Amino acid sequence: MGEDTETPAAEEEEEEMPDSEEDVESIETPTEDARRFNIKGLLINIRMFRRIVQVLFILFINAYIFGAWFGQEQITAFWTEFAKILPTLPIIAPLEAPLAVIAGSFDTLNRELTSGFFPFFTLGAMVIILTILGRVGCGWVCPVGTFQDFATLPKRNKSRPAPGTEKELRRVKLYIFVITMFMSAWVAVSTVLGTDESIRNALGIFADSGFNPLNPAYIIFYEFLQWNWPFSIDTLWYFSTWGTVFWLQIVFVALVLAISYWYPRWFCRWLCPAGWLYGFFSRDALVGIGRNPARCTPDTCSKCEEVCPMNIRIRRFPYQHMYSPDCIMCLDCKSHCPNGAIEIRFS
Ligand code: SF4
Ligand code: SF4
Ligand code: SF4
Repeated sequence: MGEDTETPAAEEEEEEMPDSEEDVESIETPTEDARRFNIKGLLINIRMFRRIVQVLFILFINAYIFGAWFGQEQITAFWTEFAKILPTLPIIAPLEAPLAVIAGSFDTLNRELTSGFFPFFTLGAMVIILTILGRVGCGWVCPVGTFQDFATLPKRNKSRPAPGTEKELRRVKLYIFVITMFMSAWVAVSTVLGTDESIRNALGIFADSGFNPLNPAYIIFYEFLQWNWPFSIDTLWYFSTWGTVFWLQIVFVALVLAISYWYPRWFCRWLCPAGWLYGFFSRDALVGIGRNPARCTPDTCSKCEEVCPMNIRIRRFPYQHMYSPDCIMCLDCKSHCPNGAIEIRFS
């Protein structure tokens, strides 16, 4: 994994960090009591707000669950109508998930290709969202990103590979993207020519989408729901009906979460092919991060880099606008900057 560097997560400073210039001035000399009972700061804290949004989106993405919970046909009918007008979003969320009303752009793109359709609408919606908002979907919406964020929360000292190792590891997701798209294109052409049966047999579980068997969202929101789960001692034998591949997928999902405890967003940074695609189109996004040169003190401070879950070397980018394909607009850097120097830029 390369040479690791331990960096403090500075979680304990979260409530005291300024979110705006006004906040900087208002908390210059707070008393201990004022800090402890800073209810306003607690409520408007960007990080807490993002956690709430992330949880709400996990429920929203799987909104049919409300119908299942309450058993009301009206709720299910409402989401069915709503789902028809929603575009796919630049996250990973399987099209096939039984409780889903929102699908991920990358998942849908692969599925449409392997069905013999060119994904005009999916591609168009994805490019528009990414070029305007950047990878906001990755930072605030994607359930796999959310699971990793929650897995890493209890760890105060995050591990980070040396820059050279990080650079090499980031390339892996590009390789996975190329392999995945090659398989999808192969199946697409064979489907159009009517000769897809043999290729589908050869690719097996990779035929519908080359990424699905390793896609944590597909495994959690689709495959987990397809198997018989033992809910009592009498039904423990259900475990024996689970296939080897499914067990391996469970181990993989467990590893994604477990490793995230030490390495924040490691799946996003190194493995996710959707993340590579989204980064490609969001690099020059209209909305992004910049630093105020009058406030930033890069020679004596590196707090933003220490807390960045995507391990971006923020200080190496121009002050005006940080055009990084890896930025997921989580705003952790903004909420932790001691000088209030991080700003959201529209350019
Ligand atoms: S990079 Fe992370 S947050 Fe973005 S789509 Fe992939 S898993 Fe989701
Ligand atoms: S942006 Fe803030 S946290 Fe980052 S180097 Fe500048 S002052 Fe430090
Ligand atoms: S640069 Fe800031 S907004 Fe972008 S991923 Fe890192 S912490 Fe989040």
